[in-house]
Order: sequence, then structure tokens, then C-alpha cells
Amino acid sequence: MSVLEVGEADVYYGRVHALRGLSFEVEEGEIVCLLGNNGAGKSTTMNLLSGLVRPKSGRVSWNGIDLATAKPWDIVSAGLIHVPEGRRIFSTMTVHENLLLGGYTLREQKKIAERLEQVYSLMPRLAERRKQQGGTLSGGEQQMVAIGRAIVGGPKLLLLDEPSMGLAPLVVKQVMEIIAAVNAQGTTVLLVEQNARAALKIAHRAYVVETGSVTLSGSAAELAADPRVVEAYLGA
Ligand code: ATP
Repeated sequence: MSVLEVGEADVYYGRVHALRGLSFEVEEGEIVCLLGNNGAGKSTTMNLLSGLVRPKSGRVSWNGIDLATAKPWDIVSAGLIHVPEGRRIFSTMTVHENLLLGGYTLREQKKIAERLEQVYSLMPRLAERRKQQGGTLSGGEQQMVAIGRAIVGGPKLLLLDEPSMGLAPLVVKQVMEIIAAVNAQGTTVLLVEQNARAALKIAHRAYVVETGSVTLSGSAAELAADPRVVEAYLGA
């Protein structure tokens, strides 16, 4: 059953028509990837799902909640948690303090403590560095903190905006393995990526987005073997 449904969504920034009848869906338990180049509309899609931009027309729903009208904080409370592009962790706060921020809307201290333990067991590197300041971490470690902070919030659907950006290939691999492990523990994932090679290794299904519309879709294996994807996104 689809938990997330986007149907014929149109988004404008003034005269810029950023999403043009965009349609896709995500089922419970999946990792779905939206692939696309710069300016394809990937970040706009994430912002649409988080209630930060509104569609001019079309449907956007998550578990029966209309995301086109829901308030951003209600969307977060419903379990849709967005890890934005560029990580945005607090550089003068420690790893632990950054992670705790993910639970700021939660009252149950026990839940927060359990999820912190989940983060530290998924990413032992963060446990080792729990007292280190965010700004002194490597790019990959900062990405781990950004993902960990979202986990502390208790996501049902984790929205990841270009987690591989600016990372070395080996680090990209580690981050993708962490995302796959989070999914294996029961969290549905929507990943937007320019790095098709890395994303298709962990995704179950994927959509190619070009100038605001889906142009191809299929299982990750099908897309990885599709000559159009190979030529445009996977290189020789
Ligand atoms: P990138 O990887 O470069 O972030 P993207 O696929 O995430 O690319 P979007 O950022 O969603 O793409 O942008 C989609 C289109 O909307 C682009 O043409 C972009 O120039 C335009 N756009 C995005 N934000 C704004 C804005 N605030 N005002 C005007 N146009 C915008």
C-alpha cells in the first residue's frame, strides 16, 4: 500500500514552473530514490512534502494526511522528517547536543534515550565523538549527525536530500550503508540524489525527474540497466 502519494503536482516560484505534473508514490518499507540533475526539482519536491512550499495544483498525501495544506510542524509530528541538503548541523554544539535537538518536539525522555542509543549503535563513530563539536567533524560525520538527528525524531518516512553531496566515494558508500540499515530497522525512506550509482545500490525503486516531471521509473535494477539512465546518470 502506498503511504506517500504525489499526483500531478505543480509548483511555481513566481514565473518559474519548478514541478510540472510530478507524480510518484512510496510504499511502506521501501527505499525510493528520485534521481535528477541540478535544477530538476528534487529539493522542491522535498520542500513540498515538508509543507515548506505549496502546490498550485495536484495531490500530495501521506497516510491520509493532505500535505498540501498541513502545517510543517504537524507534518513532522506525523513522522515525516526531512534531512535537508547541506546537513545544517550546529557547529558550536557537540554531536550529542545536535542529536538531542532531533527530539525537541517529544515529551517522552525514555523514547529520546532509546533512539539516541539506536543512533549510536548504528553509527559507532558518532558514539566515539559524542563530545566533539559539530564544526570540527568531517563532512561524512556531519552527514551522519544530520541523519542521526532525524532518527531521534522518530521518522516513519525519512526524507533525505542529497546525502552524498560533497563526500568522497568511500564515505558515500558508508552513508548509503547507514541509510540501508535505518530502512532495515523499519523506516521508509525517500532519497533524492544526483549520485545515481550510489543511490541505485540501496534503493528498491527509483524515478528519474527532469525539469519537474518523472520521465522514467522502475525497480532500481531495471533503471540501473536502462541505457538512458546509464548514458545520462551512470557514465560509461
Ligand atoms: P539542486 O540539486 O541544484 O538543488 P534540484 O533538483 O533540487 O537541484 P530545485 O532546487 O528543486 O532543483 O529547483 C527546481 C527549479 O526551481 C530550478 O529551475 C530552480 O532554479 C528553481 N527554483 C528553486 N528555488 C527557487 C526559488 N526560491 N525561486 C525561484 N526559483 C527557484
